[in-house]
Order: sequence, then structure tokens, then C-alpha cells
Amino acid sequence: MDLLDTLTAKGLRRELPSREEALAVLATTDDELLDVVAAAGRVRRQWFGRRVKLNYLVNLKSGLCPEDCSYCSQRLGSKAEILKYTWLKPEQAAEAAAAGLAGGAKRVCLVASGRGPTDRDIDRVADTIAAIKGANEAVEVCACLGLLSDNQAERLKAAGADAYNHNLNTSEGTYGDITTTHTYADRVDTVNKAHGAGLSACSGLIAGMGESDEDLVDVVFALRELDSDSVPVNFLIPFEGTPLAKEWNLSPQRCLRILAMVRFVCPDVEVRIAGGREVHLRSMQPLGLHIANSIFLGDYLTSEGQAGQADLEMIADAGFEVEGAGQVTLPQHRADVAAAATAGHGCGPAADACGSGGGCGPCGGHGAEEVPAAVGAAAATDGAGTDEVRSDLVRVRRRGAGTELAPNA
Ligand code: SF4
Repeated sequence: MDLLDTLTAKGLRRELPSREEALAVLATTDDELLDVVAAAGRVRRQWFGRRVKLNYLVNLKSGLCPEDCSYCSQRLGSKAEILKYTWLKPEQAAEAAAAGLAGGAKRVCLVASGRGPTDRDIDRVADTIAAIKGANEAVEVCACLGLLSDNQAERLKAAGADAYNHNLNTSEGTYGDITTTHTYADRVDTVNKAHGAGLSACSGLIAGMGESDEDLVDVVFALRELDSDSVPVNFLIPFEGTPLAKEWNLSPQRCLRILAMVRFVCPDVEVRIAGGREVHLRSMQPLGLHIANSIFLGDYLTSEGQAGQADLEMIADAGFEVEGAGQVTLPQHRADVAAAATAGHGCGPAADACGSGGGCGPCGGHGAEEVPAAVGAAAATDGAGTDEVRSDLVRVRRRGAGTELAPNA
């Protein structure tokens, strides 16, 4: 297939495909799907071998958010019956992080709900980073705290954070239909602040919110333009009690096409299968590993993932290996750039990036009544659409951080 040969060649050269080529990936048929996966797999193996990076989420503060992101269970007015708690103490967060690291994760993603951190919150997170790194110096820490004010990224960097996650989530054109309390430009600004402070930038998207193929291509091209080191690809978890509860637009095949498109547009960055992996890829998850080089281990912020042990077995069964703490995630040319940026800011070791599902962290939950009009109308596409709420596929997190129960790692 000429298209796939072209895209593979461009991916191996780190050359940007055209928008038309990216759209064509999304338009491939099920008969072509394994060829698409194989082509994206060649690009993945060129830059990341057969390694899979494991990331572990710690939800430092859950629910009670004043923002209205429609996809999020923690949003203003959310009726999703998620765990709600305020800031974990540093030692509680470090204990949760230790479980993920013991399970094989090399990065801990510290996530807090809310519009953005106060300076006092930055102090709390700094204490938490110190507690985690005091026990395990090699661990990568990514913070995901919402919109950053001036100098907060620098303070996180000085505290030992390696990366900052803030997702663009969807295209600039649809952003206002998903969230009204902040703008797409606000999100871009925060990613740039993180980058500017020498933090590795992590920024990704959420697919399945009713967006068009053009919207998906728009946001992925915007992410390439931002030059994030890692791109988490979330598949909407339609939580009951949220505005997007009935947005079941994704099939496993479409998820694989979306991952492949991201890989072709961002060939040498960490592409992470984030929230919604189990819900939407289901038994096709191992094929996703041929395209993405990173996943979350265990549970997400407000929803449960498959057992951490099942993640490890899936990786081994599919012929991949868990990336070790001593291995550098990014290809040498990107790692060198990251190291130079870190040297320029004079603090801490270099690293890459984190990612999640919701706007603030890996998916999440959701809120209430009003379905965003334009996004609701666009409706993708290949056949998975249903008006049913699939509560059998969405399990609210009831264990780990913020509970007395052992975490899933
Ligand atoms: S994505 Fe973040 S800012 Fe938006 S509602 Fe959820 S927790 Fe709040």
C-alpha cells in the first residue's frame, strides 16, 4: 500500500506527514488494519525497540474541581460517584508511588484536580517529590496540576520534577464545546511554561468525544508543533453521570487507527496508551503495544484499570519488555535536547514526560446534564456508536490512594 510505505519512510526519517496522509490513516478499512499496525510498528521499533515504559498515577487530590471539562468525572457539578478527597500528605503519596514502582513503573505521575496550583500547593508537591525521590532517586516524577502561573514551573523543576503534563485534549476548534472555564490558549500557555522551565513536556489528547477526523488530526499536529516529549492518547471513558456518558464512539479498530496516526505524526516521541485502554481496546490491547511504547500500570485517577499483573503478563505475552530504570526512554537525538534544556536551567536530571486521560490526568470521570452541542453532533464514525451507558465497562476506582485498600500495581 503506497500510503503506508510513504508513512513508514517518513516516520523513519522523522519527517512530518501531510494532513491528507494522516487523515487517510483514519480512513483505512478493517481489511487494511493489520498492515497499518505493522507499518506504525516499524516506526515504533526504530525509535523505541520493543520496550514498554510503565507509568504510575497517584491522584493527590480527587474531585471537587471548579472547572467544567465535560469529559471529567471531577468537574464542577459532576454526579459521578468517584472518590473525593483533598491533598494527600507527602508520605501517603510516597507510599502509593512505591507500590507502582515495585510493580515495574519508572515514572510516577502526581495529579491533582483543580484549575491550577496555588503557591502553597507547589510547596506541598515539592515536599511530595522529595519524599518520593528520597526513597528512590532514580524515579522520574511528572506533575500534573492544571494551569501554571508564572514561576511555578521553575519551582517544580527546582523541587526535582522531571516533567509536566497538561493535555490539549482536543482541537482548538472544538475546545470551547468541551470546556468553558478555560481556553485552549490557556492550555498551550501552560505546556510552553513547562517547556520553558526545562521540564519535559507531556501533552496529549482524548479521542471519542464526538470529534471529527479533522479535529483529531488538528490536535495531533498541534501536539507535534508543541514538541512534547510524550503524547498520552486517551480514549474517552464515558462515566455515568457526566455530559459525555453516552459518547460510545470508539471501536478497538478505530483506537488502533488513531494510535497509528499519532505514531506517524509524532514518530520519535513517547506515545502512551492512556485512559480508556481497557474500556475501548479490550482484547486488542496487545496490538496497541506494537504502536505505542508506553502505558499506565494499574488504575487511573478515578477509574480502575485491569490488574497491574495482567498488564505485565500482556507485555510479556506480546513479546515486549518493560523498560528499566537505567534505560533512556527517548531516542538519543531527543534525549540530548532534553539534557541540554536541563543544563540550561541548572537543576535536576533530565527526563521526558508524563500523561494521562483527563485534562488534568488520566481519565477520569464526568459530570452532568448538558451535552456539548458541536462535539455531540460531529459523531465519529466506525460503527461503535451506541446510546447505551456501558457501566459494565467503566469501574469507579475504590482502592489505592485516598482509601484504606491496597493499590492496583
Ligand atoms: S480535567 Fe482537570 S480542570 Fe478539568 S474538570 Fe477535571 S480536574 Fe478539573
